[in-house]
Formats: sequence, C-alpha cells, structure tokens
Amino acid sequence: MQVENFVGGHFRPAVSGETFVKLEPATGAELATVAASGQADVNAAVTAAKAAFQGVWRDMTANQRGMKLHHLADLIERDTEQIITLLAREQGRPTIEMRMMDIPMAVDTLRYFAGWADKLEGRSIPTAGSMGRATLNYTELEPMGVVAHIIPWNAPLMICIWKLAPALAAGCTVVIKPSEDAPIALTHLMRLIAEAGIPEGVVNLVNGIGPNAGRALVAHPDIAKVSFTGSTEVGRAIARDLAGTFKPLTLELGGKAAQILLADADIPRAIDGLLLGLFANQGQTCAAGSRILVHASIADTVAERLAAATNAIRVGHPQDPEAQMGPLINANHKARVDDYVKKGRGEGARMIAGGRAVPENGFFVCPTLFVHPDAGSTLAQEEIFGPVGVIIPFSDDDKAVQIANSTRYGLSTSLWTQDVSKAHTLARKIDVGSVAINCWSPLDARLAWGGHKDSGIGHDLSRTAVTSYLREKTVTVSL
Ligand code: NAD
Repeated sequence: MQVENFVGGHFRPAVSGETFVKLEPATGAELATVAASGQADVNAAVTAAKAAFQGVWRDMTANQRGMKLHHLADLIERDTEQIITLLAREQGRPTIEMRMMDIPMAVDTLRYFAGWADKLEGRSIPTAGSMGRATLNYTELEPMGVVAHIIPWNAPLMICIWKLAPALAAGCTVVIKPSEDAPIALTHLMRLIAEAGIPEGVVNLVNGIGPNAGRALVAHPDIAKVSFTGSTEVGRAIARDLAGTFKPLTLELGGKAAQILLADADIPRAIDGLLLGLFANQGQTCAAGSRILVHASIADTVAERLAAATNAIRVGHPQDPEAQMGPLINANHKARVDDYVKKGRGEGARMIAGGRAVPENGFFVCPTLFVHPDAGSTLAQEEIFGPVGVIIPFSDDDKAVQIANSTRYGLSTSLWTQDVSKAHTLARKIDVGSVAINCWSPLDARLAWGGHKDSGIGHDLSRTAVTSYLREKTVTVSL
C-alpha cells in the first residue's frame, strides 16, 4: 500500500520523495509505505488551504457547507465495511469496536455539526451610543482561517472527524497531520471528501513524522489555530513552540481515569462498565478507566469477578470475529506496556489476572489486572495506554475523591452508586472534564469533551467546539 499526501484535491508523494514504513500490528509485517513530508509539503498544503478559504469556502452559504458535511456522512456510512477493514489492519482493533463506536460516531458527529453550520449567529447589543448619537452595535462570527489538526493513532477516523466537522461547519479550511501509525483510513477519508464535492484545497492531508511534518505545520505563520489530540508530552512541546504566537490552541491530552465503586454500587452492572473502561481499544483510550477504586466492603467480590472476566477475554487477530482484543499499535508500545506489568510486580502489586500466552507474531499483550493499596504507585499514577488496570480499595468516599484527584491528569472519571445525592455531590468534587455516573465515558457529539490539568485545554465536540473555530467581530454604526 502506498500512502500519499492530499494537497489541493490531489494525491501526491512527499516533495523529497522520502517515505517511511508502517507495520501491521497483528502480524508485524510491512503494511504500507507512507510519504515522509517536510516543510515544502506543509507549505504547499497551507497555500492550498488558504486559497480555498479565501476563494470558496468562507463565502459559500452556511447551508451549502452543511449539505457537504451531510454528503460526507452518507459516504462514510456507505463505505463502513471498507473503512472498518482499513482501521482494523492499521490499528489492530477488533472490527466490532469500529462498527459499534467509531463509524456511527463519525457519521453522527458530521451530521450534528452540519446542523450547526447555518445557526452560528452574532448578536445585536444596545448601548448608550457614541458622541451624542445613537449607534447600532452588532457582532459577526467569522471563521478563523486555515487550521491545523494533529491526530493520534488510537481512533484516527473518529478523532479526525471530531475536529474536521466543526472546523468545516464554521467555514475554516484544514490541514491534517495523521499519526505515522494510522495514516491509511484517513487517506480513504480524503477520497470521500473529494467525492462529497468539498472543493479542492478545503481539506488537505500531510503525512509524516511528528517532529518534522507536525512541528512544521503548527509553526506555519498562516495557520490560525491548532487543534491537537495526543500525549501530554507532545502537547506541551506544541504549546512551547507556539508560545508568543497567540494562536488559539486546543489540546486533548492524556488521562488516568478512575472508576469509583461506592459501597452501594450495582456490582453486575458496574462490572460491564469497568471492563469496557479498562479494555476497550486494548486500553489505548485517553479515557481508559485503569484505576478501579473500590470500597473495601465490596473489594474482594469486585476483584474476583473482574479477574474472572479479564482472564476470559479472547485475544486474537482483529479480523477474527471471535477476538475481543487485538494487538497494541507497535513494537515499542508493546515493550512499554510489558514493562509496566514488570514494574507492577516489582512494586509489590498482586497480579489477579493476566500472564496468559498471546499470539507470538504481532504486538499482543495479555489483559492484566493488579490489586495494590498504594494510590501513589507507578501503576496508579502513569498513563499506561494498554490493557493493564489496578484495583485500589478505599475506606470512605472522601478518600476515594482524594485518590481520584491525585494524578496529574484530569480527563474523566466514572462513578458507580445508587445514591443520587452522593453521586452529584462527589461529581462536583472530582477535578476532571467529564464525570460519568453508572456508565463509562459515553461520548456524544452533543457533549463537550476536554480535560483539566495535564489532560489539556479546550474541547472537542458540542457547540463549544464549533465556536472555538470562530472569532467575534464587533461592528458599531453611528446612526
Ligand atoms: P503522540 O503525542 O505521540 O502523537 C500525536 C500526534 O502528534 C501524531 O500525529 C504525531 O505525529 C504528532 N506529533 C509528534 N510530535 C510532534 C511535534 N513536535 N509537533 C507536532 N506534532 C507532533 O500521541 P499518540 O501516541 O498518537 O496518541 C496517544 C496519546 O493521545 C495518549 O496520551 C492519549 O491519552 C492521547 N489521547 C487523548 C485524547 C483526548 O481526547 N484527550 C484522545 C485520544 C488520545
């Protein structure tokens, strides 16, 4: 497979002709050669996006822009099976996850923001007037211009659409930098963008290595805003690179979500949610609920049931319909996650599930669960981004909140209780962007998604996301 850039409506290799190799997670074999872009490719893409912004997209009626997004949603729906196969091969995720989650959410997100396109209205504001005369004062919402979207590998299509749909609805044009680990499904998305009649240059894609292509893109002087999803470390590097430029920045970064079970939790219902939070996408989600905080009175029961369910997970090839868990994204990441399992044992955590054989080829890791009372341990503090969780018993509810708030992250938390009053009281005390009560992180285009602390700034999704691509201009007319 050859993966090229998409610039000004055309696929093309990197200007330098350089490429890098992308391996298939399930086999470790070569899957694609990908354009390794540099400054010249970024310049060409930003120039195309700027021309499209000024020439067609900004001035297209908002209704027409919305219709293009609806058309793109229809095409993604039409190509569901093809896209799922591409995602499974490049990411290693079992196909059922993309069928249940990524594709429906991408489609719904496009349709939700399509609806916003013609509802972005300014305001009229009464004042005392100016220089003795009455004035008419109003605001207009203007698209910011050309925006950069930097995408991670863990849900490439869905997260790309989270950013693309509000930007296009607002009237911005876009240059996308996919992850070097997941460039393939987004290449297909570019074909659909052309087929949907979105004009040439409105959406451009530049592949390449983060510190080369990504860094050149965010620093380009004609980029008006940057929206990044990825690790806290790279988010921090981008914030440093942009310091002094005043470019608005949305950063969706790492997490270390707690899933808290109070003493009265409905245990059977909670177990399903806990497993999803722990192991969806092989634990490679920003909202991964890898810290299970359980009230001491039910800790043994929960640990026993979770361990049995974890040891029953079928690990296998992502396109095997029986497989419930596939491989991790690449060899380095597998080694990193294996190392956390060793560290957990070294720190004295008790392993209650895991240690089973997994397929030898490819980058598989066995789902693993520990019990460890120390909320300050490496397992409980660091984002592992793999199928490894730790159960931490607690004695009272305030202690649970204290533990939940004790990491540098603040993205999301799940809380399991049947006491309505406690649920809302504790939700207020937990320092995260999203609290889910009696469920695990339900994502929806209508609900803002963003983190506190080292989990980032700004939001994807919801009305908040579309307004983040707009700026407000005030006009005053002396009457
Ligand atoms: P990453 O930070 O390694 O890479 C993300 C993207 O940044 C890639 O496209 C990469 O090429 C690019 N990049 C790397 N260096 C860059 C630089 N100097 N300048 C510009 N771009 C650069 O992250 P990843 O491994 O792809 O994704 C996993 C991380 O993403 C995890 O930490 C996870 O929690 C986070 N994540 C967060 C959310 C959220 O909504 N908060 C969602 C998904 C993933």
